[in-house]
Parts: sequence; structure tokens; C-alpha cells
Amino acid sequence: MNNELRLFEDHEYTETSVETPTVELVPEAADGPAFVVEIERSTRRKRTVGAQLVGGVLKIVIPSWMSRVEQQHWVDVMSRRFERKMSTDRVDLVERALTLARRHDLPRAREISWSDNMLSRWGSCTPTTGCIRISTRLAPFPDWVLDYVIVHELAHLEVGDHSAEFWRLAHRYPKAERAIGYLIAKSGDEHD
Ligand SMILES: [Zn+2]
Repeated sequence: MNNELRLFEDHEYTETSVETPTVELVPEAADGPAFVVEIERSTRRKRTVGAQLVGGVLKIVIPSWMSRVEQQHWVDVMSRRFERKMSTDRVDLVERALTLARRHDLPRAREISWSDNMLSRWGSCTPTTGCIRISTRLAPFPDWVLDYVIVHELAHLEVGDHSAEFWRLAHRYPKAERAIGYLIAKSGDEHD
């Protein structure tokens, strides 16, 4: 992560410009986020970019010296980040993993949480500690895809490798094949 970036959210965001800020609305893309983006170019901000989501408006404050290209970069970064945040807030991972473990007779995870910094993997499992990490990139995907990745990792609690025995467990999830296809199409690696 860029260490010049500070993410301000909700009440933590208190700065209000005294100067008359330049505010503009960025048109929403067709498949864009579920919020409107509003840009404020601030002369008071020197290096940091801030963003807060209030009432369906993602307000991004950038230093006034930033170019249009940089502005667009931050619109993309912040939109993606808040979209993910909204999607992950929607899902109770612990409850979900518990239900799936029960339903498919798999071991329970001792801990399961979202991870923001998994770039090449959808999920990971540490059988010795019983901890499972799920990539936040999965959050906007359909529920049945997320469920498959959870089942995949739960199965690893019992079988660490990708042996036939492992796949027998993973395929207790009825939509396993379909989900694997979906993930391949998303150009990720369904293995870990
Ligand atoms: Zn695996």
C-alpha cells in the first residue's frame, strides 16, 4: 500500500476546507459502483488523499496539484476499495463457514477472515492453526462462488494437498465445478 495514502472513513474524517473547494461529480460507469463519486481538489491537502462514503456519495479529497491522470487513479483505487468494503460488510464469514462446515460435514475453522493482500490466491488455509483467509477480491462475486472457496479451504483443514481425497471433500459442495470455472474465467488460480 502507498504509505502516502490515508483512508478517512465516516467520523474519522473531520477536515472541512475553509477555502471554496472545487467539487465535481464523476459520471458513474455503466457497471460502476453503487455510489456517486464526488471529487474535491483541496489546496490544504499537500500529499494525502482522503475518502469517505456518506449517503451514497463517495467523496474523495485530493491535493489540488494532482493531474487528471492521478485524479482518475485515485477515483479507481478508492471506488474499488469502498466497493469491496461494502461487499465484505454484507457477508458474515464466520457464520457462513460454520453453516458450510455443518452442511457438508467438514472441519470447522478456528478463525476465518477477509484478507486484502492476497493477489494470486482466492483463499488460504493453515491447517496447523485452523486459520482461513479469504481474499476480499471474492466479495463482489456471487455467493455460490464465495461458498465454494470457503468449502475448498475447509476441506484443506482435513487434507492439506490437492489429492483425490481432497477433491472428494471439495466436491461435497454441489456447485464446485461451476465455481472453479467461474474463478478460472476471472483469471485467478482456484488452487492455493
Ligand atoms: Zn487448495
